[in-house]
Amino acid sequence: MSQDRMTKLQCKECDSINYYTQKNKKKLQQAGKLELKKHCPKCSTHVVHKEIK
Ligand SMILES: [Zn+2]
Repeated sequence: MSQDRMTKLQCKECDSINYYTQKNKKKLQQAGKLELKKHCPKCSTHVVHKEIK
């Protein structure tokens, strides 16, 4: 299995990587980076997580 579609989500506040997601080629056609508001254990709150490689 290829891993090239695996994406990490990094907290914008503390830079810790809290989530791993699999990019769906059919769904994510849009340009630009994926940003999701998710809970960060380190910040103990919901923070915007950005997609990194
Ligand atoms: Zn954080």
